[in-house]
Amino acid sequence: MRLIASYKGEAKELAASTIIRGDVYSYQFSGGSVTQVRDHTAVGTKAKEISANIFGSLMESRKRQLVGKAVEVQIFPSTKKLTDLPDFADLDDENTGGEADRDYSSLPGTGGILIEGTNRIATPISAVELDERSDDADYPIGYVLTHELGHTVLDFAAPDLEPKIDELRKSRIAAQQDFLGTDSYTRSTVDEYWAEGTAALFNTPIAELYINEYTGKWLTDNDAKLLAQLKSVYLK
Ligand SMILES: [Zn+2]
Repeated sequence: MRLIASYKGEAKELAASTIIRGDVYSYQFSGGSVTQVRDHTAVGTKAKEISANIFGSLMESRKRQLVGKAVEVQIFPSTKKLTDLPDFADLDDENTGGEADRDYSSLPGTGGILIEGTNRIATPISAVELDERSDDADYPIGYVLTHELGHTVLDFAAPDLEPKIDELRKSRIAAQQDFLGTDSYTRSTVDEYWAEGTAALFNTPIAELYINEYTGKWLTDNDAKLLAQLKSVYLK
């Protein structure tokens, strides 16, 4: 989409640069109540850095698909579950389905959802996965949020690409080709294939073991078609 300004019969294309409005919130639980706060700690700063990196790198045409939406990252403390967040409470009894079928309540994060009745797209993340001083994270710091924001981007800024990316995934399976990181997980759905591709593009491996795979170089050498799709979304 291009913005055209018209003045006295003359049309002029406007320079377009869309700023995505976004916020990072932490949730504090005390007694029975939950409070939403702006997080200025190292954890909040890390979340902001990752989100700004990903959303700031979106191609203009992709940002446009988010016009009118507010993008949120919601951080929950390590003592709480994802489904303790008010906006995710109704997933409490649900399972994710798929290859790694788990309870939502056990997850360190999940892809963004549009909160019903609002313009807010919220992505939840456990504080522990952003805390460089903690040894309790299940994954290298920053991986989970990068992966989950990859889901958020595909679902809300690039849903039109899904069939094409799924075709790539299926043809790799048919040709018995290698997938990024944990093969069984990465190849399981178009969503995981894309989210892991996003993690690779932003150099955040699922495990230290795979540090050489989560790079643009690995994608160039091994899955150039996925890289081309990633680069049609992220300016990177
Ligand atoms: Zn995922």
